[in-house]
Amino acid sequence: MSEFAFPPAAQPSVAVAGERPFPVHRIYCVGLNYADHVREMGGGGGREPPVFFMKPADAVVPNGATVPYPPGTTNFHHEIELVVAIGRAGRAISAQRALEHVFGYAAGNDLTRRDLQNEAKKRGHPWDTSKGFDFSAPVAAIRRATLGHPARGRIWLSVNGSLRQESDLAQMLFGVPDIIASLSALYELRPGDLIFTGTPAGVGPLKPGDRLEGGIEGLEVLRNTIAPPLGGSA
Ligand code: MN
Repeated sequence: MSEFAFPPAAQPSVAVAGERPFPVHRIYCVGLNYADHVREMGGGGGREPPVFFMKPADAVVPNGATVPYPPGTTNFHHEIELVVAIGRAGRAISAQRALEHVFGYAAGNDLTRRDLQNEAKKRGHPWDTSKGFDFSAPVAAIRRATLGHPARGRIWLSVNGSLRQESDLAQMLFGVPDIIASLSALYELRPGDLIFTGTPAGVGPLKPGDRLEGGIEGLEVLRNTIAPPLGGSA
């Protein structure tokens, strides 16, 4: 007899280069963390505290998998981002000690229903439906932090072979230590947490059949294809 009324959902996970997978606990995201992307979204140049939002843990999509075009949008966007994987719990972590909590790093895509996000911003509504939907968080294999903490290096994304986003991690307004310090002042970080750290300029729309390739210097390249929308059921 099962402990539960029905079998629980499978544990979401992300591949780790050369090791067993990383079990995902939560997915946190930072908004507007590159000055050029803040400008393209119509924001000012000032350094304001980081904006955080979340995606459900089971929004992760493995490298190489197809992503169904999501329902409820006609402006589905890519956002290539450095993803930080947390390996050690902590509350109110100082920036000085923040990197001790990092398990590793990966390239990820913060897929976004831009039309819903623009509408939510206009009305002062939450971002959940624009950011935290099914299949909204492709992540490539995590590279262990013992191999280094990337603070600079090329970040890029191409669609069907043409370059759409290109910048350098050094352009981030808040670096990984500051992000961990700010986030852990609001939540207890747990092993298994992922943090998407924001995207540079060049975000744009996707359509079924598009082939995405995105990378960060030194990390596994993330490759996904956009599939036609899923049909309805029942
Ligand atoms: Mn983003």
